[in-house]
Amino acid sequence: MQTSKLGGTLTGLKGVGPALADRLGKLGVHRVEDLLFLLPLRYEDRTQLTRLGALRPGTRAMVTGEVLLAEIVFRGRRSLLVRIGDGSGQLTLRFFHFSRQQQAQFRTGANVSCYGEVRAGALGLEMVHPEYRILRAGEPPVTGNALTPIYPATEGVQQGRLRNLLAQAIALMKAAPPEELLPQEILDRYGMPSITDALSYLHRPPPDADLEIMASGRHPCQQRLAFEELLAHYISLRNLRIAALRESAPSLVDRRKLASAFIASLPFVLTNAQQRVVREITADLRVPHPMMRLVQGDVGSGKTVVAAIACLYAISSGVQAAVMAPTELLAEQHMQNFSAWFAGLGINPAWLSGSQKQSERRRSHQAIADGSAELVVGTHALFQEGVAFRNLALIVIDEQHRFGVHQRLALRNKGVAAGGQPHQLVMTATPIPRTLAMAAYADLDTSIIDELPPGRQAVQTVALPDTRRGDVVSRVRRACEEGHQAYWVCPLIEESDVLDYQAAEVSFGMLKEALPNLEIGLVHGRMSANERDQVMRRFKNGDIEVLVATTVIEVGVDVPNASLMIIENAERMGLSQLHQLRGRVGRGAARSHCVLMYRQPLGPLAKSRLAVLRDTNDGFVVAQRDLELRGPGELLGTRQTGLPQYRVADLLRDAQLMPAVQQAAESISRSSPKLAAAIVRRWTGDAGEYGKV
Ligand code: ADP
Ligand code: MG
Repeated sequence: MQTSKLGGTLTGLKGVGPALADRLGKLGVHRVEDLLFLLPLRYEDRTQLTRLGALRPGTRAMVTGEVLLAEIVFRGRRSLLVRIGDGSGQLTLRFFHFSRQQQAQFRTGANVSCYGEVRAGALGLEMVHPEYRILRAGEPPVTGNALTPIYPATEGVQQGRLRNLLAQAIALMKAAPPEELLPQEILDRYGMPSITDALSYLHRPPPDADLEIMASGRHPCQQRLAFEELLAHYISLRNLRIAALRESAPSLVDRRKLASAFIASLPFVLTNAQQRVVREITADLRVPHPMMRLVQGDVGSGKTVVAAIACLYAISSGVQAAVMAPTELLAEQHMQNFSAWFAGLGINPAWLSGSQKQSERRRSHQAIADGSAELVVGTHALFQEGVAFRNLALIVIDEQHRFGVHQRLALRNKGVAAGGQPHQLVMTATPIPRTLAMAAYADLDTSIIDELPPGRQAVQTVALPDTRRGDVVSRVRRACEEGHQAYWVCPLIEESDVLDYQAAEVSFGMLKEALPNLEIGLVHGRMSANERDQVMRRFKNGDIEVLVATTVIEVGVDVPNASLMIIENAERMGLSQLHQLRGRVGRGAARSHCVLMYRQPLGPLAKSRLAVLRDTNDGFVVAQRDLELRGPGELLGTRQTGLPQYRVADLLRDAQLMPAVQQAAESISRSSPKLAAAIVRRWTGDAGEYGKV
């Protein structure tokens, strides 16, 4: 064989030219070794013959039989039907595309073996376009003694091609096994097979392999690979964290006693959880290395106050702080809060958003640059070009899951001028189950506000079909007559602002007609920030009693007098999103309610999803269920966060490996940094997913 080794390029393999190498590159396969990590999606058992009498619809089977009859029929569509029998039963093979030659092969009395999916047809059980072979006299129907792997197909790379390449790669592996990157001690501790054994098994499972376990991805050989992959990503993220700790950052302390004055001025006492998290944050800020901390807290747990205290530590130390929110509405609300809270301290936050007037923006830029703006609040406009901070030392990012890692880093780079890196505080109201957070946010330290301010009552939640809309409208009327306010949320339609807006308009019109004595407002994503702000302010002041809104109000909006939340087409929304929306009520003293309206018929999955919300108000429970029902991508907003695409691991299935992964990462990084680097390289490519930033 030629020079190919596992580390070699694909073109070293027989039958691989530049074009094919290119197509394989799309599957993430660049080197021969990568091929080995392209695992079968499933396996077909062609080692066992099933008697025709024992076939069940919906299964795949290898069968053999004698041709009893072959005929062309024209029922709707021209097709070739071949009836075979083996004494125990009969089966029809159905072909829609066939050549004259194929037709001739199926002579009555010929023996044929086929593999395919069994289904119930008009003439009894049948296989449509099975793979088949006409057997020569005396030829045994089954040849393979391993299960047949089915690989993930990509355009222009056929199964047969892939199997052939894999056969070459496996031969190379047998001659020169890939390096074992996990220490023997770790393999022993978790009873994991070696890399070579795991790969050999998964590409060539023996006939008695448990296909069910393999299909679920929980076979020890699969878990071993998932473990190594999670380890690679964990080490790579952890390295980011460690690198940050080597950077310097200004040490922030409450020198001017602004934070203590602020805490004393609050009309409430911080909860124990808030106090604990404040201690964790301020301990980080004091250290002359950048903080990278994630604060998780359910909706309404009071994250904003905590962020405000952190900002005051920066201002108190004579440097700047910036607060970034994902939407204008939320940023504006922070702006209002911070302005009111800090007025007594003589601090005027500067405002920066995409929609503000040129002249106003220029003034903000100026104040940010000369340092007269000690605090800046805004949207992603904060990290755009042209924004230069004098000495940015703390970045607060609200609702972190709405921002990508890259946006976070872009803002961080604004702080370099201050001499070192700024501290980062990221906040999320989408609680991430612990093991998942370990995988996704290994570059961050985590604090959890696991307590709501006192006096909050759980929001009562019901699910109703939208045929009961009339009752729901009466409910809105009653709540408002009692002096409360209500939200009426219209569904997000295919992420289209236009359709969203139309749906909201329809509900708005309907409510205005049904509730002529109530003041009804409308906010949606197509209004200018200014218009929206006006409506929101009137809702906050109580001038508007019912606020019809698209999901723009999902995060952060705080109107304590609102006690009723109606959500239309709730079946279309994610659980965490619904939980966020529901969190808009239950903020005041009044008992609050949430009505989830759905369109019938409701499938069993949708039903169980809505039941989760009815049964719990705990954001962590909701998030865990959301994770189980929809997967981590939805929960973490994969599209934006740039969460890595895993080759073997599945965060939902394998997150439970994380505690062991974390331990292994620490011990390997300590005892053998070279090994740690090799693990990262194997799974994340040379640069590493995060190494580039
Ligand atoms: P979230 O964590 O969802 O961002 P907010 O910071 O908006 O929550 O806080 C929700 C509401 O609770 C605000 O009106 C805030 O002023 C209030 N709040 C915060 N902390 C406390 C507390 N310890 N006691 C009473 N109310 C509080
Ligand atoms: Mg908030």
